[in-house]
Amino acid sequence: MHEGHGFSTRAIHAGQEPDPLTGAVVPPIYQVSTYKQDGVGGLRGGYDYSRSGNPTRAALETCLADLEGGTGSFAFASGLAAEDTLLRALLEPGDRVVIPDDAYGGTFRLFDKVTSRWGLRYAPVPITDLGAVAERVREGARMVWAETPTNPLLNLADIAELAGLAHEHGALLVVDNTFAGPYLQRPLALGADAVVHSTTKYLGGHSDVVGGAIVVGDDALAEPIGFHQNSMGAVAGPFDSWLTQRGVKTLAARMDRHCDNAEAVAEFLAGHDAVAEVLYPGLSTHPGHEVAGKQMRRYGGMVSFRHSGGEQAAVEACNRTELFTLGESLGGVESLIEHPGRMTHASAAGSALEVPADLIRLSVGIEDPDDLLADLRQALGG
Ligand SMILES: *Cc1c(COP(=O)(O)O)cnc(C)c1O
Repeated sequence: MHEGHGFSTRAIHAGQEPDPLTGAVVPPIYQVSTYKQDGVGGLRGGYDYSRSGNPTRAALETCLADLEGGTGSFAFASGLAAEDTLLRALLEPGDRVVIPDDAYGGTFRLFDKVTSRWGLRYAPVPITDLGAVAERVREGARMVWAETPTNPLLNLADIAELAGLAHEHGALLVVDNTFAGPYLQRPLALGADAVVHSTTKYLGGHSDVVGGAIVVGDDALAEPIGFHQNSMGAVAGPFDSWLTQRGVKTLAARMDRHCDNAEAVAEFLAGHDAVAEVLYPGLSTHPGHEVAGKQMRRYGGMVSFRHSGGEQAAVEACNRTELFTLGESLGGVESLIEHPGRMTHASAAGSALEVPADLIRLSVGIEDPDDLLADLRQALGG
């Protein structure tokens, strides 16, 4: 219905038809568990029980499918709930999955401690190394799991190349599109079979809701995922769906501002004495710059950098910012700073996923850029 329209028009209107009963211009929060039937089996709107389906959740699912260019979309209670459901819906015990050796920590833990007990095996590889991925797929891996840009090193995986080599051997490509979001990057159009999101991050965008989503472009995948969404039951509630939808409407406007600010921050850091290296795909020095240019509209709102003074100096800088709030998570309107080695990625210490001790990660918000630069200047200066 909104196919010919631009991204923001679809973000605001897809799935958002005025409420048929009242004309409310925003789909109401249908805070309800069950629905009256007009005679046995006589469902008024196709809804019988809110685990199976809820109009507020359905509005969000319709919108996300539209924005990712998919045909089926499913909203969950968290990003990890979406991931767990996807793995069990599309794989069998004994199957192998190729995962990035710098996967999101929670994703790694899900493979390492949860789905492995169910019989799923995983092989971590550098996801930028197409040869290593191809080898695992040739050995029989059923799924390639990619994240791009990665967290916190902001490496870039070439989605079209990964899709090609996965499909050559009958494997599926799943892309965790949390860091870029559908405004900057649309994996299904590049050949991915499924997209997963932590909607907690940029889609929700206001650090006030936890949620997840899966979008697929193929009914043969939508069917088992829909079945498992209902059977496993980790669905997004009506209020969480509504909050997420509210965030989605401003995604493009926020994302452009996140990118403007992140570019300014990356440039500032690149010229600062206390900074040894800036990791931002928008910099021409970044190893993923070319791939990013090929598959992303812009370079995103996440910037990582290494402090030239080592681990202690990095920790102190994190403690000194005033506007950048010290905290985990990302993608909200407010800027956040964190020390991955001691915070988000502390559990990776000693493993293949360990991150440099002098690394600082910024989720650059949409405040006034001059204020953000001034805060970083004072935090790095002392
Ligand atoms: C946060 C995050 C997740 C997990 O999502 P939750 O909503 O916290 O369960 C998965 N992948 C990436 C890249 C994330 O940043």
